[in-house]
Amino acid sequence: MADQDDVVKAHCNRCKGETNHHVLFELKEPWEEVIAEDEHGRHTIGGQEDFEVLKCCGCDNITVRNRSWFSDDIDYNGRPVARVRYYPPATSRKPPEWLQAHEGDIFLWNDHFVPKLLHQIYVALFSECLALAAMGIRALLERTMIDKCGDQGSFEANLKALRDQGFIGEKQVDALRDTLELGHATIHRNFDPSSKEILLALDITEAILAAVYVHADQAAALKKRIPPRSK
Ligand SMILES: [Zn+2]
Repeated sequence: MADQDDVVKAHCNRCKGETNHHVLFELKEPWEEVIAEDEHGRHTIGGQEDFEVLKCCGCDNITVRNRSWFSDDIDYNGRPVARVRYYPPATSRKPPEWLQAHEGDIFLWNDHFVPKLLHQIYVALFSECLALAAMGIRALLERTMIDKCGDQGSFEANLKALRDQGFIGEKQVDALRDTLELGHATIHRNFDPSSKEILLALDITEAILAAVYVHADQAAALKKRIPPRSK
């Protein structure tokens, strides 16, 4: 059992970074396996699995951290490389401000596919499932186009409809096409996106989502509140 006063550095999904955590519980499970035995003695491999239940000292968020090492997985100095996993997976990208619910908001996301898919893309990204994140971004953008303009039968036609109906401008059409291409190349051309490329694609995607779902409604609400000019 852990001493309640134990404090360690760990990732917090709510604070979006490394913070101090109280160790509420910990379990260390070393293991060893004999792989051969000869006149020189026993040859073994081994490692350790550590599990910790952690509570963020800043926001009280609870997370489970698993750290493991394996004797054959070593760095260039011959030291074991520790693998760290969090449950739920660590994410450090903050969802955009417009996705949070605010008092008096006219558009509430509730059960909408946008926050659900975005969250899953963040989890894929921070679980190092980069191909899945790229595919998720493409699916999210395709669904957005169909949601706003109906299915026009092809990706180019859907893109054109989104532009023609005034949701996005010409420059955003190019950015959207390039972002969708990342997903297409991942699915059909064995392309391995980097986390930097996924982050860039997410920046573009979130800007397009804001333009399509939020800005027009916000502008209309603002217009209602501004007193008209006197004639
Ligand atoms: Zn926290």
